[in-house]
Amino acid sequence: MTDAASNDPVTSSNAQGEEGPASGMKADLETITSLAKRRGFVFPSAEIYGGFAAAYDYGPLGVEMRRNIRDLWWRAMVQERDDIVGVEAAIITNPQVWTASGHVSNFTDPLVECRECQGRFRADHLEPDDQGVVRCPNCGKAGAMGEPRQFNMMLSTIVGPVSDESGRAYLRPETAQGMFVNFENVQTTSRKRLPFGIAQIGKSFRNEITVKQFIFRTREFEQMEMEFFCHPERSLEWHTYWKKERLRWHYGLGMRPEHLRLRDHTPDELSHYSQATADIEVHYKWGWGELEGVAHRGDYDLTQHAQHSGKRLTYLDPETNQHIVPHVVEPAVGLDRVMLSLLLDAYDEDEIGGEKRVVLRLAPSVAPVTVAVLPLSRKDTLEPTAQRVASMLRKQWKVQYDDTQSIGRRYRRQDEIGTPLCVTVDFDTLDDQAVTIRERDTTEQIRVPITGLEAAVRERLEALQPHVPSLDEIEI
Ligand code: ATP
Repeated sequence: MTDAASNDPVTSSNAQGEEGPASGMKADLETITSLAKRRGFVFPSAEIYGGFAAAYDYGPLGVEMRRNIRDLWWRAMVQERDDIVGVEAAIITNPQVWTASGHVSNFTDPLVECRECQGRFRADHLEPDDQGVVRCPNCGKAGAMGEPRQFNMMLSTIVGPVSDESGRAYLRPETAQGMFVNFENVQTTSRKRLPFGIAQIGKSFRNEITVKQFIFRTREFEQMEMEFFCHPERSLEWHTYWKKERLRWHYGLGMRPEHLRLRDHTPDELSHYSQATADIEVHYKWGWGELEGVAHRGDYDLTQHAQHSGKRLTYLDPETNQHIVPHVVEPAVGLDRVMLSLLLDAYDEDEIGGEKRVVLRLAPSVAPVTVAVLPLSRKDTLEPTAQRVASMLRKQWKVQYDDTQSIGRRYRRQDEIGTPLCVTVDFDTLDDQAVTIRERDTTEQIRVPITGLEAAVRERLEALQPHVPSLDEIEI
């Protein structure tokens, strides 16, 4: 299939969401794509072979940033709570799971083909121009689109040595079903009572029609999902709770509140299983787009799996002694999309001493490098002390040691990858056993003794963390 749909990811269609007035973000996709490649966050996949549509490889900095985001999600959703436990389910599993879940028959997007250039597009991503005419985003021809047909987005494969349809299996298009099929196993082994949740982080796969939007929409991506099982009568309250809680999590990562909003789905937007869904959306430079979905899935999934498997997937209410089918609230977010949104939102350009600089104002908790250790000169005399400082800090934070080029250039490089603090070791250090801490955002410098360095770094990192409002302070 051609990917002509989105040659210009920023302007070609509303594929990332609804168009709207430009936000205050300074970066567009092009800027971040180039920075990400130049600095080692994200590379086109298998670039030496010309890349592969909608596939990306994460480089040294990208890997660190993703680990941070993943860990923060797990910490907030599992570690710090008593009511949520984790699973890691198989990516390729019994295909009956996908029949029961409705994905085999319903997980489709409307696909249209241009009769002129044969480009294929998602019908719901095309918009009429001012004259009400739909033009092909690839060749510009008006009125050349064929009739939409439903295109199933699951990627499939053949499992086993015999290459026929009996071995047909799917790569999971969401991690959620892994939680539903394990509901009974988890409930009995963890002895959780309602309400409780099951969380999972892992890869999902979708044969997306519209791609070329960098890591916003790829065919292989990582999801962080949690299924919260609750009493049907309390499910709407829980839906409201999770909308707020998830918004708080994004604030904590450093997304600016003015660039986030909650939007409730209209009835015709709801998925086949959903009774209510809200999206947490980001105000990108090109308009609003989905970051996370908080869906109310009702009892759809457990009921479907009970019917298809013949197993009882219920909860015995200890108060009434009745079996009930819990309702489910699901916050589901893409790790790749979180990372992209943070990079876009953090990107800034300012001027220091009359020189333009690019700076990523990332929160310390997500920045790929937390502290850079920079000996002022490459002279051997500074190295042992600088290395000692670096290994001391490495025990707690991600540290980068850099002794190449001028100190000014090294500061700029750290600013551009979002490193919150630089520690400089200079010739005075040898006498006074003190170093300089330089802050990324203000470029302010303070001198501290090496013995007090860890405490000083910790204090400054804490001060740089974004403020997170309490649940009550969030109005939706
Ligand atoms: P979209 O409307 O953007 O296609 P969706 O509503 O189909 O997304 P969900 O099924 O709700 O997405 O998936 C939950 C989350 O997973 C999304 O909010 C997004 O962050 C992420 N996600 C979904 N599809 C992709 C993809 N192809 N690439 C990267 N992330 C994705």
